[in-house]
Amino acid sequence: MFFSRGNQKKEAIEVLKNLYFFSSINGLFEGLKDLNLDYKNIRRIYMTHEHVDHVLGLYPIMEKMKDDPPDICAYGETAKILMKGDESQIFPGNLGITPSMFGVEITPLKITDLTNEKEVSFLDYNFQIHYTPGHSLGSICYYEPDKKILIPGDVVFRRDRTWNVGSFGRYDFPGGSLEALKKSIALLNDFDVNILLPGHMEIVTSQANQDISLALKTINTLKF
Ligand SMILES: [Zn+2]
Repeated sequence: MFFSRGNQKKEAIEVLKNLYFFSSINGLFEGLKDLNLDYKNIRRIYMTHEHVDHVLGLYPIMEKMKDDPPDICAYGETAKILMKGDESQIFPGNLGITPSMFGVEITPLKITDLTNEKEVSFLDYNFQIHYTPGHSLGSICYYEPDKKILIPGDVVFRRDRTWNVGSFGRYDFPGGSLEALKKSIALLNDFDVNILLPGHMEIVTSQANQDISLALKTINTLKF
């Protein structure tokens, strides 16, 4: 998620509706162009977690913006890994991929640690920050209680409409935990959520509570 310079409400809302989680830097730039936005106006970037598909785009964008870099905000373990530039944690060996395959070099980044922050505010949006481990050690969700918007990273996804089963993030990567993920989804299930903007697959534009409660029901059937 990123916030841009200028504080123009319309622009900010468009950005919010079109979240880019940096899984593809070209996708980011194309998406910005579609919205008539200029990447040079990006001022803050909020990370949901430390996985490669969510952080890789940071490196080319920071290179492009090195003369006037935006502030990157991340929580706990995610902040530590990005600050260290720890390639082995951003690219776990079991994935069989390396930064050079993407033409990217992992370098230490300056990060603002969100660990002691409770909220992210801009315009009339006040997103609470909730620590939700299980998919990864540094996973957080951003929740806007008045507007009932949840940005869960990879903790929960839209439910499968055909089979009516819940969908949630993997817990078998380094730092993942089924028990922790169950607790995190139970926490999210207490929130009143209408709009769900997950890190993968489709967004949910109404009654996302149903997607979260089904995710909880589905994960609670798993016992490892
Ligand atoms: Zn992930």
